[in-house]
Amino acid sequence: MNNEILELYQEMILDHNKNPCNYGKIDDATAKSEGFNPLCGDRVTVYIKLKNDVIEDISFEGAGCAISKASASLMTNELKGKNKKEALVLFDKVHNMLTGTSADNLSEDLGKLTMLSGVVHFPLRVKCATIAWHAMQDAIKKDKK
Ligand code: ZN
Repeated sequence: MNNEILELYQEMILDHNKNPCNYGKIDDATAKSEGFNPLCGDRVTVYIKLKNDVIEDISFEGAGCAISKASASLMTNELKGKNKKEALVLFDKVHNMLTGTSADNLSEDLGKLTMLSGVVHFPLRVKCATIAWHAMQDAIKKDKK
């Protein structure tokens, strides 16, 4: 990945950090889960509202570094309207992208989520980028229906 792209991604991440999407609590959420990253101090709570296995609404709250917030912001944008299975498949793809196990097939269509891929060069920040995703996965599993 060249530096120009990395810089562009960085700007986009800072922008999401400043103006996060879907920030706040969902009062009638069907499940929620909290994540904590002791390495960086990131805390995030993900709220999810499922109806017939479809994510009708998803949001997050918390305090953390720019990467953790941007990742949560992007995730909530991406998952609204998707079903449980699609959300878990996307979790795997993003996880693979961030941990570098699928560096060869980054061409896989991850849309805006690709901007998180720069994190792969900073192993200590991978946890920051995945914390919201783990919370989301946990919330979906908790949802009993
Ligand atoms: Zn962090």
